[in-house]
Amino acid sequence: MDLQAQLEELKKSTQAQLQAIKAENAKELQDLRVKVLGKKGSLTELLKGLKDLPNELRPVVGKQVNEVRDVLTKAFEEQGKILAAAKIQAQLESESLDVTLPGRKISVGNRHVLSQVTEEIEDIFLGMGFQVVDGYEVEQDYYNFERMNLPKDHPARDMQDTFYISEDILLRTHTSPVQARTLDKHDFSKGPLKMISPGRVFRRDTDDATHSHQFHQIEGLVVGKNISMGDLKGTLEMISKKMFGEDRKIRLRPSYFPFTEPSVEVDVSCFKCGGKGCNVCKKTGWIEILGAGMVHPRVLEMAGVDSEEYSGFAFGLGQERIAMLRYGINDIRGFYQGDSRFTEQFK
Ligand SMILES: [Zn+2]
Repeated sequence: MDLQAQLEELKKSTQAQLQAIKAENAKELQDLRVKVLGKKGSLTELLKGLKDLPNELRPVVGKQVNEVRDVLTKAFEEQGKILAAAKIQAQLESESLDVTLPGRKISVGNRHVLSQVTEEIEDIFLGMGFQVVDGYEVEQDYYNFERMNLPKDHPARDMQDTFYISEDILLRTHTSPVQARTLDKHDFSKGPLKMISPGRVFRRDTDDATHSHQFHQIEGLVVGKNISMGDLKGTLEMISKKMFGEDRKIRLRPSYFPFTEPSVEVDVSCFKCGGKGCNVCKKTGWIEILGAGMVHPRVLEMAGVDSEEYSGFAFGLGQERIAMLRYGINDIRGFYQGDSRFTEQFK
């Protein structure tokens, strides 16, 4: 084949190959351009044959080489544009919005069930004129134990062993130290003290389905003139009704706490069976929900409050216990593991 025919052949075959390149293989265009028009490409290769031609043919074939180069350069450019447009078109089609598809669910977080229970109980007490007081989780032995009538070496300390930071600094075992601190500051000329202190407390306990080394408590304290056991019972009855339903009754059983005298355990009639007996109340019809009592005179005296003139009552309940009863949760550890399958059930 002579040089002119070869040039013509190169033009045609390159054009054919260009047409065959698909949008998804746009890279092949660049490869082909290098192969044909590059410095070591086919056209350059053919150009080398120019020197072997007779003199009179050289300008003619030279002109043809330039024409082929121009035609092919233009063809590459055009095919490049076509492929780019096809790529955009394909992208548009593949990313097109199907308005008939259901939207993706937006996941909105919710308050932890213990926070919900705490806030609910706070609201009940705020409605009864109580103040809500926060305190320290790291406390002095003095406020946590001694001010609760639990001097060093008192046997009842064993029920509330805790984590010690030093001999006198510890993680509080109840929120009672908040009561002691608030009592110290209270100005009785402005009326009785009515407070609750919600918060996290700690015990040296082995974790199992019903015990945890940390849990939550709300303790309450009312101190004023002529505060009696009747006030305690009335207050607890009201709380029980608000938390577990209007038909609830309460029952007091004698108990012992170092900081109250007399002390009682408080049962509420079962909210599930109404007192007939079921699995929630363990067939007794009653559910133990809190401990309470009349503030021990010594606890008042240690705060500088005259126990002849003033009296008061105190109570404590656990948010975990309330939530477990109400929602049928059988393992306390679920509250602390942060598993969204657990926490999302309480939206
Ligand atoms: Zn029951």
